Amino acid sequence: MDPKYPKDLDDLKYMVRLARNNGIKICLVGAGLSQNEQNKGTTDFVTIKLDRMNEVKIDIGREVAIVTGNTLFRDMEAEANLYGLTTKVRQGSGIFGILSSIATNVHGWDLKDGCIGNTVNWIRALDSDANELFIRPEDSKFKECVGSFGGSYLMFQVG
Ligand SMILES: Cc1cc2nc3c(=O)[nH]c(=O)nc-3n(C[C@H](O)[C@H](O)[C@H](O)COP(=O)(O)OP(=O)(O)OC[C@H]3O[C@@H](n4cnc5c(N)ncnc54)[C@H](O)[C@@H]3O)c2cc1C
Repeated sequence: MDPKYPKDLDDLKYMVRLARNNGIKICLVGAGLSQNEQNKGTTDFVTIKLDRMNEVKIDIGREVAIVTGNTLFRDMEAEANLYGLTTKVRQGSGIFGILSSIATNVHGWDLKDGCIGNTVNWIRALDSDANELFIRPEDSKFKECVGSFGGSYLMFQVG
């Protein structure tokens, strides 16, 4: 089945509720480069891609990027580079999604900052009832987002 592309947060919530009410399993896909089967749309998971929600804001004072949707590292960095800023932790290439890489808790080649989860200040996510959550590193749900492979919560924005 072809992936679904919600146009905004309300649309995403609608899809989550629809899936919930009909017992349909959903899987968010970033760049789709992980080796899991449900990413490929060949299983009984319906895949959702957040590309239409992509947005990047750079908080120059705090040197933090606020990214929404399925923004790739290379797109966020093109914006951050304008202010002489770049990413602290990511895979070797900019082709991967940011939220999906947080869901995987990736590491970079330079390991001094550890995994990407160490650089996340907050996460906005949906639970399976489409309730909005604001999650900080000290919250127990943080660990259910970072490195969870999307198994618990659907992240749609991170700072
Ligand atoms: C050539 C290559 C080089 C790599 N190098 C590295 C490396 O240096 N370091 C490293 O740590 N890893 C590395 N990896 C692994 C790669 O970083 C991870 O597989 C990463 O998740 C891929 O990003 P993606 O955007 O393709 O994620 P996807 O495959 O699209 O998604 C990854 C997981 O996150 C879930 N997900 C996606 N979006 C969301 C969301 N918004 N909310 C919740 N869950 C979500 C998906 O359901 C899936 O389970 C490499 C992989 C390849 C193919």
